Order: sequence, then C-alpha cells, then structure tokens
Amino acid sequence: MKVLFATSEAAPFIKTGGLGDVCGALPKALAEEGVDARVILPLYTCIDHTLKTQMKFLGSFDVSISWRKTYCGVFTATVGKVIYYFIDNEQYYSRPNVYGEYDDSERFAFFSKAVLDMLNMVDFFPNIIHINDWQTSLLPVYLNAFYRSDSRYASIKTVLSIHNIEFQGKYNPIILGSIFGLDINYRSLLLYDGDINLLKGGIEAADMVTTVSKTYADEILSPEFSFGLHNILHPRKYKLRGVVNGIDTTVFNPATDPHIARNYTYETIRFKSFNKKQLQKEMALEQSNDIPVIGMVTRLASQKGIDLLCEVMNELSGLPMQLIALGTGESHYESFFYSWEHSCRDKVRGYIGFSAEMAQKIYAGADLFLMPSKMEPCGLSQMIAMRYGTIPIVHATGGLKDTVEAFNPVTKTGNGITFQSYNAYDMLDAVKRAIDLFHNKPMWRALRKNAMSGDFSWKKPAQEYIEIYQQLF
Ligand code: ADP
Repeated sequence: MKVLFATSEAAPFIKTGGLGDVCGALPKALAEEGVDARVILPLYTCIDHTLKTQMKFLGSFDVSISWRKTYCGVFTATVGKVIYYFIDNEQYYSRPNVYGEYDDSERFAFFSKAVLDMLNMVDFFPNIIHINDWQTSLLPVYLNAFYRSDSRYASIKTVLSIHNIEFQGKYNPIILGSIFGLDINYRSLLLYDGDINLLKGGIEAADMVTTVSKTYADEILSPEFSFGLHNILHPRKYKLRGVVNGIDTTVFNPATDPHIARNYTYETIRFKSFNKKQLQKEMALEQSNDIPVIGMVTRLASQKGIDLLCEVMNELSGLPMQLIALGTGESHYESFFYSWEHSCRDKVRGYIGFSAEMAQKIYAGADLFLMPSKMEPCGLSQMIAMRYGTIPIVHATGGLKDTVEAFNPVTKTGNGITFQSYNAYDMLDAVKRAIDLFHNKPMWRALRKNAMSGDFSWKKPAQEYIEIYQQLF
C-alpha cells in the first residue's frame, strides 16, 4: 500500500503543534507496518538549516491556477524509511511564519495543486492521499475537478484528518475563481454560511474523514464542539472515524532524551528528581523535592482553558506548589502569565516562547502537568507527560477523556487526575487532589507506574489507519 501525507507541517522539519507531531510520527509508524508512506510539505525558509542540507533537488515545473503559472521546485530527503518531498516557492514560503499570512488561501491552494502535479514528476502514484486540516482540503477538490481523467490518478482515494475543527480556512466567495481557479460549479461544494469554507469542501470531497480521538469524533457532531460544521458532518457520519493519536516514543523517551539533565526509566525513577532540581534552578525557584512542580506546555489560546487559571489565579497562588508554564499565543494570555509571575515570584514562572528543548525539560522535571482544555481534539502533551512520569491533571473532554483515566485510590487504577465540568473551581479542586496524592507516597508510586506503563506508541493507531485505508478498496 502506498500512502502520501500532504501536510502543512511535519516534525522534525517544521512543527507549530500537534499536527506537526502527527505527520512526523504516523508515516514512520505506517512504514514500520510495511506501508510505503511518504510525506509532502512546503519548503518553508524557517526549516532548520541543518535539515535543509540533507535535501536533494529533484526538479521543477509550473503550477497553473486561474491565470497564474507559478514556479514549483521539488526537493526530497529520507528520514528512516520515510521519503519526504518539499514544495519550493520563495514567494509563498519565504515568510517569517508558517500561518497567519495575508495570502494563506493562495499559499495552500498552490501547495494542494502542486502536490498533485508532483506525482507525475516523481512518478509516484499512491493508493491514498492523506490530507490534513483545511490547508490541504482543496486537494481532493482539485483531484476530482482536474485529474480524474488521467488513469494514473483515477483510482486515488483521499482521507482527510481533522486535527482541530476550529480552524476551517474561511474566505470571501469572491476568490473562488481568481485565487482557487475553480468555476461557479464548485461554489456550492465550498460555500458554507456565506463563506468559502475549505474544510467543509474537504469533508465533502474526501472519501473518508478521520479525527484524532474517538470522543472528539462524537463531539464534533454537536453544535457545542463543531464550530458550525455539525450539519455537514451528520449526514456524512458513515465516513467519519476517530483514531486516538499516539506520540513518537523515540523522540519522547526519558531514557534517551538528550535535552534533559538525567535520563531515567520507571525502574530508575529516582533520577527524575535531578531533572526537577535542574528545572527549579533554571527557573530560579526554590530547589526542593517536597514542593510539587506543576508544568504546562501549551498554545496560549482560549481552547486550552487558560481562562480557568485566570479566574482562580489567587487561589492557585495560595497552594503549596510551583507552577512553570511554557507557551506562546494570544497576547492577553502572555500578559497574564507575565503579571502572574511578577506578583508570585516565589512560585510561578511564565516562559513565553516556543522551545522543544524547554518543553522536554518541563515534561521531565515537573511532577504534575496541567491541561485544563475547554476542548481537546486529542492532545499529545498529556501523553508525553505520562511517558515522563509526570501526572496529568485534565478536563475530561475529547482525547483527554480517551487517554487519561482518573486514578482510583481503592483499586489503584488510573493514570491521572480529571475534572468533569469546565469550571475553574472544579479545576482548582483537581489540583488540590493532585497535590494530596503527591504527598501520599504509596499512592503516588502506583499512579506514576500506571502513567509510565501506558502504551502511547503509534503502533495501534497505525494499524487502525491501515484498516481505514483498506476499507476504501
Ligand atoms: P495543539 O496541537 O492543540 O497545540 P497538542 O497537545 O496536540 O496541542 O500538541 C502540542 C504539541 O506542541 C506538543 O508536542 C507540545 O509539547 C508542543 N508545544 C506546544 N507549545 C509549545 C511550546 N511553547 N514550546 C514547545 N513545544 C510546544
């Protein structure tokens, strides 16, 4: 089976969040199962220079969209068993940011069409093109519109994974012809609620739609979670599946992680305290093993439940703990962490930035990991935390519900601490329970063991994806 992942990000080349993690790790896991899995993404200038030196130029062609004929270079690199392709165009991808540019619609329409043209150039015709989120949602639309008459493209099936339904790629309908090169016949496919909605078009045009956890697959059928798309998804429930993400257990491995002060496993969990001390030192906090450290690594967005922290900031500040948050995002949340740190110097650190290295130090050094997301399609951070023996405190929603089971002190089952309703005082109560458990050594040992022995690898999810692909033939 041949599968091509078309994505706007894939680790280790470029990652702004979970999408990058998934498109880096899932193809690798599929390749382990014998699939010829390849990945294609834009060649952003912000990709690390050392990774760029491994790329080889394959050739170039022009991509035609509307009246434009645009240069497209193709580079390739191989990581393990996975072949990567990169679509090069300086005008579109030589930008400081991956997203949020004024012409994102054009940048990703170009990418979607370039991917289809590239198949011809490299003579690789996959059975499945696996697209991801709104950025590549035009790909099945273009495939059906312009390529099906060529027998090499005729039998390609498409799978769309929705990593976060909040982001849909909404644009003024006026750009349908000029930017997307599609005539009026495609208006109803892409139009929703007065806008061109790329994700809506992708959901309709793709042969199968998946999302990143079983609970989220149910949740997005309701108005509360769908950001308006439940009416589109409901009649297409027959082609909607939920597969819980895994994590890259090679990258996120406390036994080998080069970024942390001391490597450890469950058997040598006592070494985790070196990482805690080092983290406390680096953050200029009191170095004590008896004070529970709560970590956060997150986008600073409303979806991540930061409002709950704002609401009970004073109560949290009064608890016997230290809190270290790493994140970037909306400026009002960044200011919140700056001012909280300022008013609570002995306990709180808000590290504003995006740093994989710092993230790993927090996963390894913290005792607890707070993730009070209002909505969470899957969430990877809670799984990474557990892999490092750091106990998640989560709001039971979406993928958090599917991966974190509340610890039961009687049966000693469960791998984390959960709260059921999205409410600041319920979160506060969960944090207090977590601190109590931290001080109850036999319980804490059992909880940590459960967390660290969980299987968060991609093996099982990869097998589920293979079954989904097979259903299409
Ligand atoms: P989302 O994709 O919604 O941001 P996920 O939990 O699915 O959330 O994935 C987030 C990924 O991005 C994790 O690997 C997490 O460690 C990483 N991450 C998030 N914020 C930062 C940051 N500020 N610095 C480094 N890594 C981050």
